[in-house]
Amino acid sequence: MGTTWTNSNLGYPRLGENREWKRALESYWGEKISKDDFLKEMKELRLGYLQKQRDAGVSFIPAGDFSFYDHILDTALMFGFIPERFQGEPDSLTTYFNMARGTDKAPACEMTKWFNTNYHYIVPEIGDITPVLKENKPLHDYKEAKEELDIDTRPVLIGPFTFLKLSKGYDSSEFETKLDELLPLYVKVLQQLQEAGASWVQIDEPSLVPTLTKEDLRFVQKTYDTFAREIPEMSIMLQTYFEGIEYYEDITALPVEGIGLDFVHGLEKNKAALEKHGFPKDKTLGVGVIDGRNIWRADLKEKEALLKKIDEAAPEADKVIQPSCSLLHVPVTKTLETKLDGILYGALSFADEKLKEITTLTDRMNGGSAEQALDENQKALQVFAETYRQQSADLTKQREALPSERDLPFAERQKYQDEKWELPLLPTTTIGSFPQTKEVRVARQQFRKGEKSPAAYQEFVRGKIKEWIDIQEDIGLDVLVHGEFERNDMVEFFGEKLNGFAFTSFGWVQSYGSRCVKPPVIYDDVTFAEPMTVEESRYAQSLTDKPVKGMLTGPVTILNWSFERDDIPRRETAFQIAVALSQEVQALEEAGIDMIQVDEPAVREGLPLKREEWNEYLDWSVLAFRLATSNVKPSTQIHTHMCYSEFQDMIESIRALDADVISIETSRSHGELIESFETAVYDKGIGLGVYDIHSPRIPSVEEMKDMIDRALQVLPADLFWINPDCGLKTRNTPETIDSLKNMVQAARESRESRKLPTS
Ligand code: GLN
Ligand code: ZN
Repeated sequence: MGTTWTNSNLGYPRLGENREWKRALESYWGEKISKDDFLKEMKELRLGYLQKQRDAGVSFIPAGDFSFYDHILDTALMFGFIPERFQGEPDSLTTYFNMARGTDKAPACEMTKWFNTNYHYIVPEIGDITPVLKENKPLHDYKEAKEELDIDTRPVLIGPFTFLKLSKGYDSSEFETKLDELLPLYVKVLQQLQEAGASWVQIDEPSLVPTLTKEDLRFVQKTYDTFAREIPEMSIMLQTYFEGIEYYEDITALPVEGIGLDFVHGLEKNKAALEKHGFPKDKTLGVGVIDGRNIWRADLKEKEALLKKIDEAAPEADKVIQPSCSLLHVPVTKTLETKLDGILYGALSFADEKLKEITTLTDRMNGGSAEQALDENQKALQVFAETYRQQSADLTKQREALPSERDLPFAERQKYQDEKWELPLLPTTTIGSFPQTKEVRVARQQFRKGEKSPAAYQEFVRGKIKEWIDIQEDIGLDVLVHGEFERNDMVEFFGEKLNGFAFTSFGWVQSYGSRCVKPPVIYDDVTFAEPMTVEESRYAQSLTDKPVKGMLTGPVTILNWSFERDDIPRRETAFQIAVALSQEVQALEEAGIDMIQVDEPAVREGLPLKREEWNEYLDWSVLAFRLATSNVKPSTQIHTHMCYSEFQDMIESIRALDADVISIETSRSHGELIESFETAVYDKGIGLGVYDIHSPRIPSVEEMKDMIDRALQVLPADLFWINPDCGLKTRNTPETIDSLKNMVQAARESRESRKLPTS
């Protein structure tokens, strides 16, 4: 031993403490500030972030991680991947935002989830474009940091392998050709950085963590062989995150100067590989031990023990302590959270606090004592653990007492349900929410600020429910909903009513573009406090003879869209939420609400990056759903909704949920989906969305009838439901009414043409 420890950051949040970044963007888009003012403000933010990192004592500070929208979009533009529909703008900033946001004439580039996080990137469209180096963005940021602040940063690039893996518009057989076109341009970027004085670069290759093929490995080798040959003097830190890497021995043998590994989310796998195979002594090991994706304070004693173990396995290598991934995924600083309980506050760590944890650990590893910081850390965590997080035995008992299976199999429940509900064939319904108009949002804000009394707000919500029950009856829908007017967000609403959740004031993270989310914090055991949705559901049902669905958010979605506990497995938290939701289901049944929808839109996005871990995740997800929904009468009809269409690969799990009815978003990929039903039988109620709610266009009766016809070629008519493909909260009122009228008409005509009884 005896090597020195340094540290680095892999990326800093863009938003600013008060979301200044978001405001600047939106002001610029709204033409409230000029381009010059916008650029000036962005530069100030960028430099401010660098300064903060320097003040925190970070040795390797990243440059080029800052973006006006998204770093993958930055990279696409840097290499000239501008789809034809966006070409011809004189100003590259306009091109940039047009690609991200679309124009009247050109639909935006597709956006998709960044691995298994809640960040979304813009998908590059490769097509026939021959790449060129348009502008060296990391170079710009590198020089700026040097000139303005005299900081010698470590520029960050997204690696060519990952960039191409995340792009679309080419066939996978062309991967190597595309890579060959790109490599010389990357070399140029690196050369220019080197000429400007950069000695290290961080090249992010998160695509090294999902399951890789041998062929993929060859592309990676080719990439880094090229860099080593063309720019031998540049030191490359090949950075991975979100999971353990595949082909550990091959990756660590690549001709790069450093390898960065995630020892939080890939702890087991990376640590086992490191201990088994060791680490090349002439390379630097990036040790990601501080969780870049969650908001909990690290136990520094525990981390120190881990670092020592890592040191033993790689005694000769230089080591850099760092977050597990970019800090893009956590809020900026906890110091603004003045409203939180002090004990909880003591256990939190946002980006700025994480940098301090990193420097403290570095100090410790280099022989410093950092005693005060360590003491404070241990005390805060101890009080937190003693106050909260004392798993009560009751919870386990409650769970064990809950059935995870309905009393009767579907075919038998169906008889009771048919008898009870007397629905027409091809019943029509919606997914839950109706337009969240300005009026609705203003009323809620007034209520939150105390300008509207709880009674007045409740009156307002009731008024909306009544208005929409009448509208739905008029339209002729068969199964109604109350409209979700009392909810701002489908997770926050439940989080605020369950025990165990806290809400920060400034805990924002970027979701896509200027859109931010403030995930609830699950800090303690989740338990049921009191009925959450019964009032509105009961009221809605009192207004009509048609069934009104009760509407809940499912356990896995609540978990996936929150900052979860890190002291117990995710599945445990999912089960706790499930038990609490089962109590809500009970309360609804007791209030006479016997048709209940439990939404699980986020199940798919929570799939582990590694295919071999899918089953375990899906198994507990299914179990959580079933714990929440099995303790009901056979005649009670459980619905669920998922908003994605690529579910072919998890249809078994969807079946295993054992919901009586599922609605799935499909209108944008109908063909593919129908095909999958040719091979996989689905034998419970199912609604494939017959129109796309993401567009303001009003679908015609004909096109929806057509959708229904195609679906009924592979699905039995007595199990098929007719509904839009997701909730309608983002649509306006006239659009919603006209579309639903057409949908109901399409259902009528479909019944007639099949000589089914019409209601
Ligand atoms: N019930 C919710 C709604 O209608 C479902 C939203 C979703 O699928 N994301 O808004
Ligand atoms: Zn949906």
